[in-house]
Amino acid sequence: MPSKRRGLAVLLAGLLGIASARGGQLSVEVGDPRDRAYLPAVFGAWRGVGRDLHALGLTLPDTRLEAATSASDFARRTGEPWFVAATTRGAVIHTQRLGALAARGTLPLTIRHEAFHAAQPRSLPRWLAEGLARLFSGEAERDPRGPTGLEGLPEGTLSARLAARGEGDLSAAYREATRRARQLVQTRGWAKVLARK
Ligand SMILES: [Zn+2]
Repeated sequence: MPSKRRGLAVLLAGLLGIASARGGQLSVEVGDPRDRAYLPAVFGAWRGVGRDLHALGLTLPDTRLEAATSASDFARRTGEPWFVAATTRGAVIHTQRLGALAARGTLPLTIRHEAFHAAQPRSLPRWLAEGLARLFSGEAERDPRGPTGLEGLPEGTLSARLAARGEGDLSAAYREATRRARQLVQTRGWAKVLARK
Protein backbone atom coordinates (compact mmCIF):
# COMPACT_ATOMS: atom_id res chain seq x y z
CA MET A 1 0.00 0.00 0.00
CA PRO A 2 1.41 3.50 -0.83
CA SER A 3 2.59 5.20 2.34
CA LYS A 4 -0.04 7.95 2.19
CA ARG A 5 -2.90 5.47 1.94
CA ARG A 6 -1.30 3.28 4.53
CA GLY A 7 -0.99 6.29 6.81
CA LEU A 8 -4.69 7.01 6.30
CA ALA A 9 -5.58 3.40 7.01
CA VAL A 10 -3.58 3.49 10.23
CA LEU A 11 -5.23 6.80 11.22
CA LEU A 12 -8.72 5.42 10.53
CA ALA A 13 -7.94 2.22 12.41
CA GLY A 14 -6.73 4.33 15.32
CA LEU A 15 -9.94 6.37 15.34
CA LEU A 16 -12.06 3.22 15.21
CA GLY A 17 -9.95 1.50 17.84
CA ILE A 18 -9.09 -1.51 15.71
CA ALA A 19 -5.72 -2.82 14.56
CA SER A 20 -4.44 -6.06 13.12
CA ALA A 21 -1.39 -8.01 14.14
CA ARG A 22 -0.07 -11.26 12.75
CA GLY A 23 -2.80 -13.79 13.46
CA GLY A 24 -5.16 -11.58 15.40
CA GLN A 25 -7.13 -8.38 15.24
CA LEU A 26 -7.41 -6.19 18.33
CA SER A 27 -10.41 -3.98 18.96
CA VAL A 28 -10.21 -1.54 21.83
CA GLU A 29 -13.01 0.08 23.78
CA VAL A 30 -11.97 2.88 26.14
CA GLY A 31 -14.34 4.05 28.86
CA ASP A 32 -12.49 7.35 29.35
CA PRO A 33 -12.10 9.39 26.11
CA ARG A 34 -8.69 10.64 27.30
CA ASP A 35 -7.46 7.06 26.94
CA ARG A 36 -7.68 7.42 23.15
CA ALA A 37 -4.29 9.15 23.32
CA TYR A 38 -2.76 5.78 24.25
CA LEU A 39 -4.22 3.78 21.36
CA PRO A 40 -1.08 4.11 19.19
CA ALA A 41 1.01 2.72 22.06
CA VAL A 42 -1.45 -0.17 22.52
CA PHE A 43 -1.50 -1.02 18.82
CA GLY A 44 2.28 -0.70 18.53
CA ALA A 45 2.71 -3.18 21.39
CA TRP A 46 0.08 -5.48 19.82
CA ARG A 47 1.92 -5.67 16.49
CA GLY A 48 5.22 -6.49 18.23
CA VAL A 49 3.61 -9.12 20.39
CA GLY A 50 2.00 -10.81 17.38
CA ARG A 51 5.43 -11.30 15.81
CA ASP A 52 7.05 -12.49 19.03
CA LEU A 53 4.27 -14.98 19.83
CA HIS A 54 4.44 -16.33 16.28
CA ALA A 55 8.16 -16.99 16.82
CA LEU A 56 7.18 -19.20 19.80
CA GLY A 57 4.62 -21.06 17.70
CA LEU A 58 1.65 -19.27 19.31
CA THR A 59 -1.11 -17.45 17.45
CA LEU A 60 -2.97 -14.41 18.71
CA PRO A 61 -6.74 -14.84 18.49
CA ASP A 62 -8.97 -11.92 17.54
CA THR A 63 -9.11 -10.06 20.81
CA ARG A 64 -11.07 -7.29 22.42
CA LEU A 65 -9.54 -4.91 24.98
CA GLU A 66 -11.84 -3.05 27.36
CA ALA A 67 -10.18 -0.28 29.38
CA ALA A 68 -11.99 0.70 32.57
CA THR A 69 -12.62 4.33 33.53
CA SER A 70 -11.12 3.96 37.02
CA ALA A 71 -9.77 1.40 39.48
CA SER A 72 -13.24 0.97 41.00
CA ASP A 73 -14.80 0.55 37.53
CA PHE A 74 -12.16 -2.13 36.81
CA ALA A 75 -12.97 -3.89 40.09
CA ARG A 76 -16.70 -3.75 39.33
CA ARG A 77 -16.26 -5.15 35.80
CA THR A 78 -13.88 -7.96 36.70
CA GLY A 79 -14.25 -8.73 40.40
CA GLU A 80 -10.47 -8.23 40.67
CA PRO A 81 -8.90 -6.05 43.38
CA TRP A 82 -7.93 -2.46 42.49
CA PHE A 83 -4.16 -3.17 42.39
CA VAL A 84 -4.40 -5.71 39.55
CA ALA A 85 -3.32 -4.10 36.23
CA ALA A 86 -5.34 -6.27 33.87
CA THR A 87 -6.99 -9.65 33.45
CA THR A 88 -7.78 -11.77 30.40
CA ARG A 89 -10.99 -13.82 30.12
CA GLY A 90 -10.94 -15.89 26.95
CA ALA A 91 -10.40 -13.37 24.15
CA VAL A 92 -11.29 -10.28 26.20
CA ILE A 93 -8.57 -8.29 27.96
CA HIS A 94 -9.83 -6.05 30.77
CA THR A 95 -7.41 -3.32 31.84
CA GLN A 96 -7.20 -0.39 34.18
CA ARG A 97 -7.42 3.06 32.57
CA LEU A 98 -4.74 3.10 29.84
CA GLY A 99 -3.48 6.46 31.14
CA ALA A 100 -2.96 4.96 34.61
CA LEU A 101 -0.88 2.10 33.17
CA ALA A 102 1.12 4.53 31.02
CA ALA A 103 1.80 6.74 34.07
CA ARG A 104 3.25 3.69 35.85
CA GLY A 105 5.37 2.90 32.80
CA THR A 106 3.72 -0.52 32.45
CA LEU A 107 1.36 -0.11 29.46
CA PRO A 108 3.40 -2.05 26.84
CA LEU A 109 4.38 -4.71 29.42
CA THR A 110 0.74 -5.18 30.40
CA ILE A 111 -0.35 -5.55 26.76
CA ARG A 112 2.39 -8.14 26.18
CA HIS A 113 1.52 -10.03 29.37
CA GLU A 114 -2.20 -10.23 28.59
CA ALA A 115 -1.62 -11.03 24.90
CA PHE A 116 0.46 -14.01 26.04
CA HIS A 117 -2.50 -15.24 28.11
CA ALA A 118 -4.84 -14.79 25.13
CA ALA A 119 -2.54 -16.95 22.96
CA GLN A 120 -1.17 -19.51 25.47
CA PRO A 121 -2.33 -23.14 25.60
CA ARG A 122 -5.34 -23.33 27.99
CA SER A 123 -3.85 -26.39 29.68
CA LEU A 124 -0.95 -24.58 31.40
CA PRO A 125 -1.19 -24.59 35.19
CA ARG A 126 -1.71 -21.13 36.62
CA TRP A 127 1.78 -20.72 38.13
CA LEU A 128 3.43 -21.65 34.83
CA ALA A 129 1.13 -19.42 32.76
CA GLU A 130 1.93 -16.44 35.00
CA GLY A 131 5.66 -17.14 35.08
CA LEU A 132 5.84 -17.50 31.30
CA ALA A 133 3.68 -14.40 30.75
CA ARG A 134 6.07 -12.35 32.91
CA LEU A 135 9.14 -13.76 31.13
CA PHE A 136 7.60 -13.10 27.73
CA SER A 137 6.45 -9.58 28.59
CA GLY A 138 9.80 -8.44 30.01
CA GLU A 139 8.30 -7.80 33.48
CA ALA A 140 10.67 -10.47 34.84
CA GLU A 141 13.66 -8.26 34.06
CA ARG A 142 12.41 -5.76 36.65
CA ASP A 143 12.26 -8.35 39.44
CA PRO A 144 14.71 -7.89 42.28
CA ARG A 145 17.29 -10.69 42.47
CA GLY A 146 17.57 -12.89 45.53
CA PRO A 147 15.35 -15.46 47.21
CA THR A 148 11.56 -15.19 47.00
CA GLY A 149 11.03 -17.08 50.26
CA LEU A 150 8.62 -19.40 48.43
CA GLU A 151 11.19 -21.78 46.92
CA GLY A 152 9.75 -24.78 48.81
CA LEU A 153 6.09 -24.10 48.06
CA PRO A 154 4.33 -26.95 46.18
CA GLU A 155 3.20 -25.97 42.67
CA GLY A 156 -0.49 -26.33 43.49
CA THR A 157 -0.15 -24.04 46.50
CA LEU A 158 1.71 -21.48 44.39
CA SER A 159 -1.10 -21.53 41.81
CA ALA A 160 -3.70 -21.16 44.57
CA ARG A 161 -1.83 -18.21 46.04
CA LEU A 162 -1.73 -16.48 42.65
CA ALA A 163 -5.44 -17.12 42.17
CA ALA A 164 -6.31 -15.78 45.63
CA ARG A 165 -4.84 -12.35 44.78
CA GLY A 166 -3.84 -11.58 48.36
CA GLU A 167 -2.27 -8.13 48.24
CA GLY A 168 0.44 -8.89 50.80
CA ASP A 169 2.18 -11.88 49.22
CA LEU A 170 1.13 -11.63 45.58
CA SER A 171 4.36 -10.10 44.29
CA ALA A 172 6.52 -12.80 45.92
CA ALA A 173 4.25 -15.45 44.39
CA TYR A 174 4.63 -13.87 40.92
CA ARG A 175 8.41 -13.69 41.35
CA GLU A 176 8.56 -17.33 42.43
CA ALA A 177 6.39 -18.47 39.50
CA THR A 178 8.68 -16.49 37.19
CA ARG A 179 11.84 -17.99 38.73
CA ARG A 180 10.54 -21.54 38.15
CA ALA A 181 9.33 -20.76 34.62
CA ARG A 182 12.71 -19.22 33.75
CA GLN A 183 14.53 -22.36 34.94
CA LEU A 184 12.27 -24.55 32.78
CA VAL A 185 12.70 -22.36 29.69
CA GLN A 186 16.48 -22.27 30.15
CA THR A 187 16.77 -26.05 30.41
CA ARG A 188 14.06 -27.21 27.97
CA GLY A 189 13.28 -24.27 25.66
CA TRP A 190 9.97 -22.50 25.08
CA ALA A 191 8.48 -25.08 22.68
CA LYS A 192 8.71 -28.00 25.11
CA VAL A 193 7.59 -25.95 28.08
CA LEU A 194 4.53 -24.70 26.18
CA ALA A 195 3.72 -28.25 25.04
CA ARG A 196 4.25 -29.55 28.63
CA LYS A 197 6.73 -32.17 27.33
ZN1 LIG B 1 -1.11 -12.95 34.14
